[in-house]
Amino acid sequence: MRLSQYFMPTLRENPAEAEVISHKLLLRAGFIRKSASGVYTYLPLAQRVLKKIMQIIREEMDRQGGQELMLPILQPAELWLETGRWHVYGPELFKLKDRHNRDFCLGPTHEEIITDLVRREVRSYKELPLLLYQIQNKYRDEKRPRFGLMRGREFIMKDLYSFDRDEEGLEISYRKMYEAYTNVFTRCGLKFRAVEADAGAIGGSTTHEFMVLANSGEAVVAYCPDDNCGYAANLEKAETKFIPEVIGTPAQIQKVATPNVKTVDEVAAFLKVEKKQILKSVLFKADDGYVLAVVRGDREVNEVKVKNQVDCLVLELASPQEVEEVLGAEYGSIGPVGVEIPVIADLEVKHVLNAVAGANETGYHLIGVNPERDFSPAVKYADIRLVEEGEPCPKCGKALVFARGIEVGQIFKLKDKYSRKMGAFYLDENGQQKPIIMGCYGIGVTRTMAAAVEQNHDEDGIIWPAAIAPFEIIVVPVSNKDEQQMKMAEEVYNLLLNAGFEVVIDDRDERPGVKFKDADLIGIPLRITVGKRTVNEGVYEVKIRRTREEKVFQKEELVDGLR
Ligand code: ATP
Ligand code: MG
Ligand code: MG
Ligand code: MG
Repeated sequence: MRLSQYFMPTLRENPAEAEVISHKLLLRAGFIRKSASGVYTYLPLAQRVLKKIMQIIREEMDRQGGQELMLPILQPAELWLETGRWHVYGPELFKLKDRHNRDFCLGPTHEEIITDLVRREVRSYKELPLLLYQIQNKYRDEKRPRFGLMRGREFIMKDLYSFDRDEEGLEISYRKMYEAYTNVFTRCGLKFRAVEADAGAIGGSTTHEFMVLANSGEAVVAYCPDDNCGYAANLEKAETKFIPEVIGTPAQIQKVATPNVKTVDEVAAFLKVEKKQILKSVLFKADDGYVLAVVRGDREVNEVKVKNQVDCLVLELASPQEVEEVLGAEYGSIGPVGVEIPVIADLEVKHVLNAVAGANETGYHLIGVNPERDFSPAVKYADIRLVEEGEPCPKCGKALVFARGIEVGQIFKLKDKYSRKMGAFYLDENGQQKPIIMGCYGIGVTRTMAAAVEQNHDEDGIIWPAAIAPFEIIVVPVSNKDEQQMKMAEEVYNLLLNAGFEVVIDDRDERPGVKFKDADLIGIPLRITVGKRTVNEGVYEVKIRRTREEKVFQKEELVDGLR
């Protein structure tokens, strides 16, 4: 590839619209351009990176027995009505109508489509297990599309769905995906942690999130520094470990639907209550149930410095069903556990009568919550101790470390949630009809690319991990005017191409400073300079982008030296 002909529009200045480093650098280095809010064009450099990430993902999915297919992005409303998600998914769902006025959506995820496929095609236990995946565009009308590729409205996701006969089968599929995800992110050259999103070890968990560690991450991960131990938890989720025994009394509360209200002000206006009556509430998983905690204070969830203690009210909920019932929303749509319910007010809980506890679904809130009446005094002001940095790891006792993380993947046990709703059954060995047991497993491909930049950059630009770099080597002739330099650069370029490297030559008629700056900005791992010294002494200077280290090679040493 020749840079003189390559479509790589770099920018000298930092683009004003970009807040985070990956967005800035991907724009500046000519990888992406914005088409609309949260919608991007991937230029040739980005396409090369994405293809590499997707190739790694494909290999790891296939290794575990995954089979790739393509699923429709345009999805009929009927399927979403069957699961009920047409109405509960919320405003993130891109809905549209065809010319016959029939409703469709653009797939934000594919449980409905794939469960529909499998229920029609799979009959017998002999056809299970199945691991089916796609790597395609997803559409989510995110409230705040931002940070470039980190939170797009159109983005690329790999998602795999597992179909098993029973929960033991699901356990095996889940472990396979856990391993595949670990391999994918390791091979991509990223530092990451698989965080428990549920209490308990991997065997007992229903979900894990894979977090790339980077300062700009939206989540805070508490993790054990010992790789052999591997304990890691989302800070929100880590807290749940410290919830004291809950002995709440059933609340005399009333559930109300509050359509299209979200902010504290809107909720207050709709329910005709004062803003201070609205409590901030958090859904936790406790040992044997779920807890809706109503928290006092102004604690910032995603800030590393969380206060040591919070006063809270807790409402015990025995099962996910009860959570669904009380919150008036689907458990699945609420998210697993530890989900912050974004209704916040600074108030003295003690003095609130007839308060409103919010759910993190648009439009569902509990009104008439009376702390004195509805919550057991024993737990009313229970101390929920938040995990602190340095606290002993619950698994091995070593001091926990905090870091920010970017969610690049999540694996989830769906069990029979979709198969029951949609009637995906199979016949077992005894001819008995049983629901197919499912799991779903997603990786954000475009977000992974952005996360790689967040984690790997310096003041000069991107430092791609070798496995996902757009090119492995850039050959830079210092002066295009020097015929001998150009000739030697072309020779080494062809030599490396023939040896199977992915090489690009900067044959643009630019000043050396510009070429070097661009090479650093784009982040190609190795740069070979062909200059005066090459002509005079026959040596090639190789600069390692990450360490800035320089090595000198004779031509005949190059191929082996760079391998
Ligand atoms: P988030 O918590 O960031 O909103 P999510 O939990 O809603 O993500 P999942 O439904 O678990 O996302 O989707 C699987 C993966 O898809 C995520 O782990 C993430 O890598 C990626 N992803 C989700 N939403 C977006 C988005 N808006 N833009 C880019 N990638 C995304
Ligand atoms: Mg989301
Ligand atoms: Mg998430
Ligand atoms: Mg997720």
